[in-house]
Amino acid sequence: MCGITGYIGKRKACQVVLDGLCMLEYRGYDSAGIGLFDEKGKMQVAKKAGFVSGLKKLAYDRQGCCAVGHTRWATHGLPNTANAHPHKCGRFCLVHNGIAENFAGLKSDLQKKGKKFLSQTDSEVICALLDDLYDGDVLDTMGRVAKMIKGSFAIAFLCNDFKDKIFVIKKNSPLAIGLGKDESFVASDPVAFAKYTDKTVYLKDNEMGIVDKNGLQLFDFCKNKKTVHIQNTNLFCDGDGQKVKSFTKKEIFEIPRALRHTANDFFADDKIISKTIDIFSKNDKVILTGCGTAYNACLVGKYTWEKVLRLPVQTELASEFRYQNPIVDKNTVVVAVSQSGETADTLQATKLAKSRGAKVVAITNVSHSSITKNADLVLHTKAGQEVAVAATKSYVTQILLFLCVASVLCKQSKAVKEIKKQIDDLPYLASKALLLDDKISKLAKEHCKKQGVFFVGRGLDYPLATEGSLKLKEVTYMHSQGFAAGELKHGSLALVDKNVLVVGIVTQKKVADKTFNALHEVSSRGGKVLVVTQFEKMAKEFGADGLLCLPGATDLLMPMIAVIPLQLFAYHVSVARGINPDKPRNLAKSVTVE
Ligand code: GLU
Repeated sequence: MCGITGYIGKRKACQVVLDGLCMLEYRGYDSAGIGLFDEKGKMQVAKKAGFVSGLKKLAYDRQGCCAVGHTRWATHGLPNTANAHPHKCGRFCLVHNGIAENFAGLKSDLQKKGKKFLSQTDSEVICALLDDLYDGDVLDTMGRVAKMIKGSFAIAFLCNDFKDKIFVIKKNSPLAIGLGKDESFVASDPVAFAKYTDKTVYLKDNEMGIVDKNGLQLFDFCKNKKTVHIQNTNLFCDGDGQKVKSFTKKEIFEIPRALRHTANDFFADDKIISKTIDIFSKNDKVILTGCGTAYNACLVGKYTWEKVLRLPVQTELASEFRYQNPIVDKNTVVVAVSQSGETADTLQATKLAKSRGAKVVAITNVSHSSITKNADLVLHTKAGQEVAVAATKSYVTQILLFLCVASVLCKQSKAVKEIKKQIDDLPYLASKALLLDDKISKLAKEHCKKQGVFFVGRGLDYPLATEGSLKLKEVTYMHSQGFAAGELKHGSLALVDKNVLVVGIVTQKKVADKTFNALHEVSSRGGKVLVVTQFEKMAKEFGADGLLCLPGATDLLMPMIAVIPLQLFAYHVSVARGINPDKPRNLAKSVTVE
């Protein structure tokens, strides 16, 4: 969530910084800004509510070789131009990602001293504090300020006394420095500078640094020097990224490939497999945690592990986990799932779990992300970069890793063989589900004006119903809810009439007829029913208003196949409603605030 970029070197800093911000657009934002030293060394700020493309018109051609840029996802104050970053106070110009939780007290102290504020943000307070405490020693001032702020921050700022430097501070929000030849870069995600360098330094929590064209000097908040560890990121910079019509659709169509890579890499890594067996065999309690789509993947993970391993598994929303004093100790394994590996709530859950002695397993799509730093074991989904805000291919690969882990922990060799065979078939089955695209596009046009959409399912189809509903809400802004099919009659059936669409997901053999019973209750009350199923005959007997037939597969595979038409449905309804599915309002790709 939010993006920071920075550049110091010989190139036109505005172009590097603004192009970098475009690469970070996937993180979600509502305004953008840039702060720079122009060719005369004058500090300038340009900022604007709305997209980076608007800011580019204002600032792309400005001269100057040192700049910081920002895309803001508002937490404190409206998403308008005044609240956009950078904030300028005295000698300082600052961009911030995160939340300064104690900003109100700090602000009122500064106001008592006569300081006037131009925005409603917590971030301007950090900038004002720097200006207030500054006595000529920037390093000392930034260390003092960093220690005063409670919450999370990745900060980059310029100081009028040092026109060839960018200052950076990090705690609980991601920040990386790219090192080139006679030039350096700053970014929330190295993808922003991947086309210039792959030499990356990931700042750790409680570190601050001075960046100039020759590199980075690193310190802790008490000004003690720290060693700079350079890593090779080898990121693939998707050059045609900007030419893709819709990342959402592109990424759904990448699912078969993502599944193949994830399974191949997992089963080829003996070290990971033996570590997995080691961690899970020594513990007797398992908690799966995540937020949003990742949490929905955890729900599927629970069903999968309980079914295959007969192992009791608890699922917890990461945003609730740390506030409920969870029963976690050294015999617990906490599996934290996050596409970006930066989700603040999930990150905090892993920190709490670690502090109580638990083992942490991270399932993430980004190999150097913050979550991997707290983990005893990292299971890497190989979905490839996911740009669209709504998670699609990452969700299926998260579920696949739950199944892969089940296969290596399962002690019955016959069952293991069977699961592995199913996993081999999976990419092909997923590509068959993609063939439903045209039919789904027509159904989407038919139903895009419904008042509400319910998704219902039983067994493994229930978590799938919650994910189908979340996807629809995210990209279409329609009211929607996912239910366990049996729950409909306990209250929500009262909402059903001809203006409501109910999507019945029927992929689990044992409970298929029970779900059709629930769907009968819907159609007898005038509700429209769209059935997504592998049981074509039963669906035809039922007589649905719309039918999407899936390729046949065993129960455990179905969530990864059946979610494809649900994702495509959300995508097509979004387009039919004139919305850009890649960048839905109010949402961010990587939610780095709690
Ligand atoms: N809390 C800050 C604000 O609302 C920064 C938000 C962000 O990370 O973009 O301006």
